[in-house]
Amino acid sequence: MRIVVLAGGIGGARFLRGLKRAVPDADITVIGNTGDDIHLFGLKVCPDLDTVMYTLGGGINEEQGWGRTDETFHLKEELAAYGVGPEWFGLGDRDFATHIVRTQMLGAGYPLSAVTEALCDRWKPGVRLIPMTDDRVETHVAVTLPGSGSAAGAGERKAIHFQEYWVRLRASVPAEAVVPVGAEQAKPAPGVLEAIAEADVILFPPSNPVVSVGTILAVPGIREAIADAGVPVVGLSPIVGDAPVRGMADKVLAAVGVESTAPAVAEHYGSGLLDGWLVDTVDAACVERVEAAGIRCRAVPLMMTDVDAAARMAREALALAAEVRAV
Ligand code: GDP
Ligand code: CA
Repeated sequence: MRIVVLAGGIGGARFLRGLKRAVPDADITVIGNTGDDIHLFGLKVCPDLDTVMYTLGGGINEEQGWGRTDETFHLKEELAAYGVGPEWFGLGDRDFATHIVRTQMLGAGYPLSAVTEALCDRWKPGVRLIPMTDDRVETHVAVTLPGSGSAAGAGERKAIHFQEYWVRLRASVPAEAVVPVGAEQAKPAPGVLEAIAEADVILFPPSNPVVSVGTILAVPGIREAIADAGVPVVGLSPIVGDAPVRGMADKVLAAVGVESTAPAVAEHYGSGLLDGWLVDTVDAACVERVEAAGIRCRAVPLMMTDVDAAARMAREALALAAEVRAV
């Protein structure tokens, strides 16, 4: 079975670990979000690709869900001693090596997809991990920062990098708009459209619908290829009981005018894209609403408390895909 998964960071990676356990013989291609990518200290950092690579390759910091296990921060401390920041982005010594290798290879002219493949030679994630594009895309968030005191109440409206919004500000101000800068001009990376065309099933893990899956879908050609693939497309809700399980997805959903509920996210993707949608058992009452939108829906436990729980979710997603296919 050939499975294509559109993944962000933590939610995508943890689901993928379950999917691998559920169907060890499947041929899995992961299309990774690169809208979170950022240049720091002259290095190219790809947080979501690395979270998938480290999680599936056994190098992830389990409690945090991102970054390396057994990490130290000497390099960051030394940089801070020179007054070189940003101090708000947690890059550890082990993690730095990944970004140095990546930046060096990019500098030598390799595209990001080839670099990712080379990094995966070490980590052996057991899936084919492809960035959504080799072109530069950076998600920016429009915010109004509190005024500096002169004109009372007047704030400064500006666009900031997604990482600055998410990590430095912890989404503490409303996101007024979310823009994947560069996406319109980006081309899918080599292998992306081919994998979609050859897939037997396409899955949207419980990743952020706006800044993870939404960014991947913003690369021209990807959404169309999925809609035209003619195979079941099944998603799992990252929203359980009207709130994101982890993180601040509600803030970016508000920016695109979508309420933070499992059925609203399904409707946001729409029946033109999604054939099936899994909601958590606490949201069982919304199954009818999702089905009324033309998307087959089931309520099953959606908390990835451990790898077995994630594997059960993956089996449910594949069962729903089989149900959709049989219609
Ligand atoms: P990020 O790039 O690290 O933010 O990760 P993703 O975009 O892949 O996933 C983030 C989303 O995963 C958040 O919106 C969470 O609500 C969701 N999530 C995290 N853990 C779980 C879980 O156990 N169950 C479900 N249903 N969603 C989860
Ligand atoms: Ca991310």
